[in-house]
Amino acid sequence: MFVDTHIKVSDIPEDGLFLNFEELAGSMPEVDEYCSIVHASGRLELHRSDKEIRISGWVSGNLNLTCDRCLKVFPADVKTSFFYLLKPSSEFHQGLELDHELSQDEVEVYWYENGEIRAEELFREQILLQIPMRLLCQEGCKGLCPGCGADLNQEECHCKDVHEHSPFAVLARLKTV
Ligand SMILES: [Zn+2]
Ligand SMILES: [Zn+2]
Repeated sequence: MFVDTHIKVSDIPEDGLFLNFEELAGSMPEVDEYCSIVHASGRLELHRSDKEIRISGWVSGNLNLTCDRCLKVFPADVKTSFFYLLKPSSEFHQGLELDHELSQDEVEVYWYENGEIRAEELFREQILLQIPMRLLCQEGCKGLCPGCGADLNQEECHCKDVHEHSPFAVLARLKTV
């Protein structure tokens, strides 16, 4: 399902714009083979003064992640709220001055282009920020044996069997994989 997630900055009224989004996942670009966003919903509250927009909201997502160690796909839920400033990317080049301004304000700044905010990208970014660097299906996941590929969470390693028994053991193993 496609949800219209593009917001024209000039459409944001004086007293703010409040938007709820359901079923965002279909509008978001795919992440990668280790992470997919299954469901996502969120809310945005936008307040504009001239070209600057203060934005706050939350996003919640159901993800499928792939374990770094055993390659099992496991579900994970994320929910986060955020608050930052959006400025037109044309101001990006003001560089140093802007950085200085930022550190005093301590509000994060993001940029928008072509007078348009892309809510789906913003939500996606917030979701991705919640994903840990190391993806583990469970704490202490034992992973796969590099020798025989056995999922060590579920079964014993077979490497020893292969060495101990006849050469046919290798074939038998291959069949069961
Ligand atoms: Zn695992
Ligand atoms: Zn093994």
